Parts: sequence; C-alpha cells; structure tokens
Amino acid sequence: MGKSSHGSVPAFQLFINGAWKNASAGATYDVVNPATEEVIAKVANASRGDMDTAIAAARKAFDDGPWRRTTPHDRAKVLRRLIDALEKRKEELRQWLISCAAAEYVTHWIQLDMPFTMLANYADLATSFELEQMLPVIASQSPMPQVSNSMAYHQPVGVCGLIPTWNFPFFVTAQKIGPALATGCTMVLKPSPYVPIIDLIIAQAIEECDLPPGVFNVVTGESAELGAALVESPLVDKISYTGSVGTGKKIMAAAAPTLKRVHLELGGKSAAIVLDDASLDQVAPLTAGPSFFHAGQGCAMCTRVLVPKSKHDEYLERLTGFVNMIVRVGDPADPGVMLGPVIREERRQQIESYIASGKEEGAVLATGGGRPADLPKGYFLQPTIFGGVRNDMRIAREEIFGPVLSVLPFDDEEDAIRIANTSAYGLGGAIYTSDIPKALEMAKRIRTGTLNINGAISLLHTPFGGFKDSGIGREGGRWGMLEYSEVQAIAWK
Ligand code: NAD
Repeated sequence: MGKSSHGSVPAFQLFINGAWKNASAGATYDVVNPATEEVIAKVANASRGDMDTAIAAARKAFDDGPWRRTTPHDRAKVLRRLIDALEKRKEELRQWLISCAAAEYVTHWIQLDMPFTMLANYADLATSFELEQMLPVIASQSPMPQVSNSMAYHQPVGVCGLIPTWNFPFFVTAQKIGPALATGCTMVLKPSPYVPIIDLIIAQAIEECDLPPGVFNVVTGESAELGAALVESPLVDKISYTGSVGTGKKIMAAAAPTLKRVHLELGGKSAAIVLDDASLDQVAPLTAGPSFFHAGQGCAMCTRVLVPKSKHDEYLERLTGFVNMIVRVGDPADPGVMLGPVIREERRQQIESYIASGKEEGAVLATGGGRPADLPKGYFLQPTIFGGVRNDMRIAREEIFGPVLSVLPFDDEEDAIRIANTSAYGLGGAIYTSDIPKALEMAKRIRTGTLNINGAISLLHTPFGGFKDSGIGREGGRWGMLEYSEVQAIAWK
C-alpha cells in the first residue's frame, strides 16, 4: 500500500515500477496543513537517482512492455477500473484535499467530483477518438505517382513526465493521466511537494487496475531538481507541466537539447467584462464567487473586473457588500467556509506585497487588505477588493494568486476589449450581458484560451489552455488525446 505510520502521522513511499519503495537513504519530508500549520504526513523525499530509476522503468514499460499494444477497449477498461478503485477512496481523497490543498467544501465539485467525470470522459474517448483516419485521395497535377491509400495514425507519444501543481491537485492530475492512459503512454508523475498524497492515493488505486509495472510511477520530493531531471532526460518524450510562467520558461529551455514535446499550462490574469446592459444584482455574486473561492488560487479566475465608468461605484458597492456578507474565512475542514488559507506563508507574504503595491499606486482599497484577526494560526488573508484600478498598476497586470480582486473602469466596449487584451496572459475571461450575439462577437476578439458568457462553465469536453504567457497546448476532451499522441502518415498501394 506504500503507507505506514511515522509517529502520529502517516508515512508514504514512492511508487516505481509497480512497487512501493523508500527514497534513497530513507529520506522523507513533512507535509503541512496550511490551515493549522501542523505536520500531517511524512512523504518520501526522492533523489535524482530515484527519479532516474522511475524514468528507466517507464521507458522499459513503453518500449518492451505490452501496454502500448493494448486495444483502445482494454485501455478504456483500465480507466473504468481506476475510477472504481478511486471511488472507494473518495472520502480519503476528500480529507487529503482539505488538509493538504486547503480545498473548501464549496470547491469540492471541481476538486473531487469533476476529476471522476473527467476520467470517465477519457475512458469513453479511449474508444471513440479516431486513432486511424482514412485520408481522401487528392488529384495531383505533378508527375509524382498518385498515392492511392493513406491514413493518419495516432501513436501514443511515449514516456510522459507529468508535473502538476498544488491548487487543484486531483483535477490537474486527472487531466494528464486520463489522456496519457487512454492513448497508451507510460508516465512518471512528479507531484507538487505541497500536495503529494493525492497522487500517491491514485497510485494505490492503480494497483487494482492490472496495469503492467512501470506504466504509472509516482516520485515525490521537495526538490525542483526532480522535475528538472524529468525535463532533461533523453528517455522522456513529453512533458506536461502545470504551474508558474517562470518555471514554464525554464522547462521549455531545458527541454530544447532533447527536443521533447512540451505542454505548458501556466498562469493568468483573466478579465471579466461587465457590459452596460448587465444586471449588477446578478453580476456581483457571479464575479465574486469565482474570484474568492479557494482563496483566489485558481489560474483562470477573473481577478480583473472591467465595468463601465458610469457603473463603477455602484458595482463596487454591491460587490463589497456581497463579499462582506457572504464570504466566510476559516479552516476548510468547516463546511461553512468559502475562503481557506493560501498554501504557504511565503505565498501569503507575496500577496501582501501586492496589496501594498495597490495602495502605493493609488487604487482604492474597498475591503480587506490584511490578515483576519481571529485566525492566528494558518496562512489566512481577508478577501480584498480594490476599486479605481488602472491597467498599468501591478495589481492589474501581474498574477497575484490570492484573494485579491481589482475593479477597473472602462470608457466603452472597444476600451474594454483593449484592456482585456493588454495583458501578458491569455488564459480565461468572462463577459456579462443580456446580448448574447454581441458577447459572442466580442469573445472572438479576446485573446484567451477560454471565454465564458454569463457564468457559463466549460471544463470537460472543451479545450483548456492559454494564449501568450498562459501556456502552450490544450488539455480537455479530444484535444487532450491529441496532446498525448504522435501522428503518423501511412500510405500504401
Ligand atoms: P511552480 O512553478 O512553483 O511549481 C510547480 C511544480 O514545478 C512543482 O512541482 C515544482 O517542484 C516543479 N518545478 C520547479 N522548478 C522546476 C524545473 N526547473 N523543472 C521542472 N519542474 C520544476 O508553480 P506553482 O507556483 O506551484 O503553481 C502556481 C501556478 O500554477 C500559478 O501561476 C497558476 O496560475 C498556475 N496554474 C495553471 C493552471 C493551468 O491549467 N493553466 C492550473 C493551475 C495552476
């Protein structure tokens, strides 16, 4: 099972080549609950050598094992078995999501339920995605011999290095392992050091799925070296990384010498545009919820709200009133809490430096701005709203990844589109209006990977990813299948 106890807390091992192992020299590190600051688990602290062993196992399983030659039907069966095995561990997953990732109950539909649906979707796609596409014969004017038959065939991309982040750990991992398993890849998963246990529970579930050893490996550890080892290894064919822009750029550079495929899901500074005809009564809760749940630690959250200049003060008042009335800050183990702690103390201090910069640059602090006085333990912050924000301020341009919302006034719709697009990022966005045709036209002019109108959510069958600094590539649905396959042209006569 890879789990034992170490004093009063559980201890977890690495999962390599189908077996549980201690890290070299038995090294471990502590996992901390961000709401209580208590150590809640001891986890194997892998060395680069441990990572190399896992990569070699995944390589061997891909090159010499039976997995890549299984049928789509077999792979769908494995995914369905995995869902059943995880279903038995759902409450355990919930408890670890709460204690490691500070997942508030209001987020469990996305933190816990959605990954099950996502894996089921990939089980379906394993058989419905067309691995073979017959291609039409094109009449050619050239003297080249005519190709009579040809097809595009999708092979699995190979050994995948999967590096998810900590904010929605089950969701982000499911987005990667779903298509990797559905296409017949092998993989080494390197969890975020803050929340390694979710991926280790997935490994426990994998043990019930009859997967050949080496197909699925989990290597936990504190050091960024482990991710770097995956990226640099000539034995790895593809990296799928979710995390910060800075690390994304390092990964892209480090992957160049081995020319591997790189898929990057990075940060965002998404804008919600409230048009003149939108009802502020409806818009205030719709813009507040997605900005403050999970303490604002979501990549596609709309942390800039753009409102017509004439409505700025009224919107700010309603938004602030709503947040002060509804948003309860506290331990996510309490089901009534909407806003838990941020993940670590250093992140809290970084967010506080953004709040200070907002004040210095002249934004109006409408509410929050500090630490809740009644929560002396844990990395908590008050929900914070700035009004009168200009798009050249740091709080409007940079990703804060905390419970801080900036409200920006705009002159007209052209101005709103310009402000939304004046960003290094291009991940998410929203438009609120009663004029859907107009919103659809505006959406096509906004350079972001997703754009939701009037609070609609698109997460499962739709592509997810970013323009500009928000990343390269798409996850989700058939786009996820394409990311994990390498297409080959086969012609015959
Ligand atoms: P991070 O870059 O600090 O760390 C993420 C992971 O990368 C960790 O596991 C870390 O060990 C590893 N890592 C660090 N250096 C590495 C290197 N040189 N090579 C390989 N791996 C390395 O990211 P973070 O700050 O923990 O994540 C938060 C960010 O993630 C935010 O910017 C957020 O917007 C983004 N995010 C994006 C999405 C998306 O789908 N676009 C989803 C969730 C979060």
